[in-house]
Amino acid sequence: MGRPHPAAGGDFDSPVPPGAGWPGDPASPDTPVARSAAGVRRLAGSCCLDPNVNISTGNPDVWTQTTTSQPLSELDARISVCHACRRLVRWREEVAATKRAAFADEPYWGRPVPGWGDPEPRVLLVGLAPAAHGANRTGRVFTGDRSGDWLFASLHRVGLATRPTSTHAGDGQHLLGTRMVAAVRCAPPDNKPTTPERDTCAPWLDAELRLLMPTVEVVVALGGFGWDAALRGLTALGYAVPRPRPRFGHGAEATLSGADRDVALLGCYHPSQQNTFTGRLTEPMLDAVLGRAAALAGLA
Ligand code: SF4
Repeated sequence: MGRPHPAAGGDFDSPVPPGAGWPGDPASPDTPVARSAAGVRRLAGSCCLDPNVNISTGNPDVWTQTTTSQPLSELDARISVCHACRRLVRWREEVAATKRAAFADEPYWGRPVPGWGDPEPRVLLVGLAPAAHGANRTGRVFTGDRSGDWLFASLHRVGLATRPTSTHAGDGQHLLGTRMVAAVRCAPPDNKPTTPERDTCAPWLDAELRLLMPTVEVVVALGGFGWDAALRGLTALGYAVPRPRPRFGHGAEATLSGADRDVALLGCYHPSQQNTFTGRLTEPMLDAVLGRAAALAGLA
């Protein structure tokens, strides 16, 4: 039985079918679906071969070319319908169908969560993966859970978000010069993707970095998983990583050299409940790193 979206109204099944009218849904029923690691590589890679070319088809073995001026939108769409990791597809859809009691009257997105924010950002945040009852419910990264509450409140305090809260897609929130992505796009059991799942999903991040890095000045890695994913993705893109390899820590900074210019990588403890409840991460600590990112990017 469908449930109404908190902002858009209308009834939505859980998980939400592509193109059903969910606020911000980038996909349509025709968006090509990756069903294997090889499919992810092909569909991610073809989004950024040429910024004016979209190679798309529902069958990854037969490609046709159509033109589009929005490769990032096409990438978001392809990510949002991915079915490559059998365990994660099963988990995200099971959570969407069963729901947490507090959200029993809401529809759950139940699909991969694409990046969100400014399409030409100067600051890029890289997190771990969607939360089962957060982004997996709302369809927007870091939206609808305690981690997101902390993160958006801080982004607002340092001038990178228009509102202090992020509750659901279509709530009027906007990021300013900033975009956020998860290294793994599907909610994993216990917040722990396996190494093969991480590697299967990596081409989506690689493709997104390829499209975004022409404007990005600062990458903020939320947690060690995000730090490693950012380093791997930027290395794959040709950025030179200092030796010895920079280690993650809260407030850690590294400069990665690109062909045309450098990018700063900042480390920040993940605003997980484990970190915020225990005081390992405080609001001033979070504000310090995000404020530093805003300053380095010229957004302060
Ligand atoms: S984790 Fe990534 S590769 Fe795996 S199903 Fe989700 S979007 Fe696809």
